[in-house]
Amino acid sequence: MINYNEALKLVLKNVTPIGRQKIKLENSAGYVLAEDIKTKFNIPLFDNSSVDGFGVKVSDIEDSSSGLPVKLNLIGTVRAGDSAKVLVTSGTTVKILTGAIIPDSVEAVVMKEFCTEELNKVYIKKPAKKWENIRRQGEEFCKSSKVISEGKRITPPVIGLLATLGCKSFYVYKKPKVSIIVTGSELVKPGKKLLPGKIYESNSYSLIACLKEIGIENVSIFFAKDEKKIITKRVKKAISTSDVVITVGGVSVGDYDFVKEILDKLGIKTYFTKVAIKPAKPNYFGTCIKKKKKKIVFGLPGNPVSSLISYHQLIKPALLKMMGQINISPFQAKAQLGSDLKKQTSRLEFVRGIAEQKNGDLLVEPTKGQGSHMLGGIASANCLIHFPKEKDLIHKGENVDIELISWN
Ligand code: AMP
Ligand code: MG
Repeated sequence: MINYNEALKLVLKNVTPIGRQKIKLENSAGYVLAEDIKTKFNIPLFDNSSVDGFGVKVSDIEDSSSGLPVKLNLIGTVRAGDSAKVLVTSGTTVKILTGAIIPDSVEAVVMKEFCTEELNKVYIKKPAKKWENIRRQGEEFCKSSKVISEGKRITPPVIGLLATLGCKSFYVYKKPKVSIIVTGSELVKPGKKLLPGKIYESNSYSLIACLKEIGIENVSIFFAKDEKKIITKRVKKAISTSDVVITVGGVSVGDYDFVKEILDKLGIKTYFTKVAIKPAKPNYFGTCIKKKKKKIVFGLPGNPVSSLISYHQLIKPALLKMMGQINISPFQAKAQLGSDLKKQTSRLEFVRGIAEQKNGDLLVEPTKGQGSHMLGGIASANCLIHFPKEKDLIHKGENVDIELISWN
């Protein structure tokens, strides 16, 4: 049985991006950039006002105060979108709105709140420093500089940045096509009648939601009873039609756990079948080449919490790498444990926890319901507490490593 870190390393070593495609800006959210993005112009493009106020010569108002305002003649207005054809000379001012271009003759903008406008006069009640309230041309990015690096996910601010740069289309990495094969003769779709011994199938819904969260929507779902023939048929079909195949259930040592045997018979190269973690010890990873394309196969245990943790710890990083993302590490932090934690295994345990700030400290409390079949615990959790392999007791008050659960 291999350790978690070795398992993750093996998985990541075996996956690579599956290609690039050109995409339009409006369709790009959720993809990962496959090229560096430079700006063709300064950002901001021109000096502009960060406030609504009045443009001045700073020497005109250096002695101004609320008790003794300086009177200036108002000679015009520049609104956002206007060109700036106004010439401000000593003794005059121009009204400038937020985002409006700063005329060359203006040295600073005084916020409207410190001015009183009366007819065509403005009383200024406060001195200003040169460039005050002016967003300088190129202060964020200079013309020709790199703004976004290849490997960056196109998040809401990133797509906004791409639009700001005027990018109409660009290269992103292709998203992998994923198939999920759900095995288990006891499983029934929600909405159908539950006969004795049957339960509602939940893993496909959770996994589809996980994939959606990272932008993968091209997912096929197959269902199979615990019968070798059916599972074999589904696996063959899934492998021929997708880049990544995820089987769920039937990967342990039970009499009807056929998945490993089937994958082996189909010639899949197996890297591991068990990982020293809890939950999700039975855990398969393999690869094969079909029609010159590398196919990735994960076999998840069927217990709903196990399959989610296994996805989170092994499959998600792999998919992100296949999608071209550079930064794939989950956010980790240290937190103070709110109650004693004990364990019996010599595996790394991912304990479902709720972390929150209290009086400036980050505290973490294990949730109720730590069984691998208990979705309630993980549904209420916002983090996973890493309970190291070599420890069997961690006392209340000790610091532990926690990892934020990404779908929160
Ligand atoms: P298995 O890994 O197939 O031995 O399944 C372990 C446990 O998870 C059993 O109690 C199964 O009934 C349950 N299980 C397996 N697959 C699913 C599923 N798709 N949805 C809900 N429970 C499942
Ligand atoms: Mg099963």
